[in-house]
Amino acid sequence: MDINMNYTIELCKELLEIPSPAGYTDEVMARVEKELKEFGVEYNYTRKGSIVAFLKGENSDYTKMVSAHVDTLGAIVKKVKSNGRLELMGIGGFAWGSVEGENVIIHTLNGEKIEGTLLPVKSSVHIYGDIPREMARTAENMEVRIDEDVSTEIETKKLGICQGDFVSFYTKTKVLESGYIKSRYLDDKVCVAQLLAYVKYLKENNEKPKNDLYLYFSNFEEVGHGVSVVPEKVDEFIALDIGLVGEDAHGDEKKVSIAARDNKTVYDLKVRKDLQETAFKNGINYTVGVYNRYGSDATALILQGQDLKYACIGPNVDATHHYERTHMDGILETIKLLVAYL
Ligand SMILES: [Zn+2]
Repeated sequence: MDINMNYTIELCKELLEIPSPAGYTDEVMARVEKELKEFGVEYNYTRKGSIVAFLKGENSDYTKMVSAHVDTLGAIVKKVKSNGRLELMGIGGFAWGSVEGENVIIHTLNGEKIEGTLLPVKSSVHIYGDIPREMARTAENMEVRIDEDVSTEIETKKLGICQGDFVSFYTKTKVLESGYIKSRYLDDKVCVAQLLAYVKYLKENNEKPKNDLYLYFSNFEEVGHGVSVVPEKVDEFIALDIGLVGEDAHGDEKKVSIAARDNKTVYDLKVRKDLQETAFKNGINYTVGVYNRYGSDATALILQGQDLKYACIGPNVDATHHYERTHMDGILETIKLLVAYL
């Protein structure tokens, strides 16, 4: 299998560069669209702004759909404070400590991008002694210091910043010689890149998927309602999303994860068994994921009451929803599983 890893990593880096907290995904979706156009794949936008693409398979008796989400964690301005700084409300599930000290961009309604930094309201130990060490990192205890001359609510509002503006965090993306890739929001941009790398593989090798295949680039996964349009003929839905590394999760950054259970559902046994057997037969290194607190686009769809077979696979990622890390090998194993299974 000749998978173009250079393409995958370069595209992943490009996608990570484009801020896309859930609800603010037009620009990143346009980047996905550019790639689909290049490959000559037919696609449509849904009303919610996601993209559904279609690849004709060798047979049409059974239809699969694979999703990857372009949206990420982020925040929204909850309040312009009297000191001119911003209180935020998070988008998606993350710990405020994971973004402490991170640079941010405030995206105003008229299209301005304004720089700032997320800090605890009492950050300097020189001033506050032990308080910065001990205070809880909650939304109320954090604020955005804006890198402009503002110290009052009125001055900040004059910049065009208002309640409801989206705030994105810098990703600090690093691709290392060792093959490790560190970044915020590998979840799920690495999977978007993998899915497009799979399409590139098909096009370059003049291959078709075994079955008719829909690709769904979803844009509200982190807030729990990613996929909303499923053509009637779809029999099986696979969420391409990160696996977990850590205590009891048994993930490995150099292997692909096949999920057995998250906290909301068990995954379809037959599909999981097929995926595991496919991996085994093709010498693809995998782990089986049992996730303590996790949901995928597949979980959300099943909980909507859809009648489908469903699974969740993806590269194992360390420190998910924090400063994440995965390895080139795990990305490659995931794409290999896509090729072998689909
Ligand atoms: Zn995800």
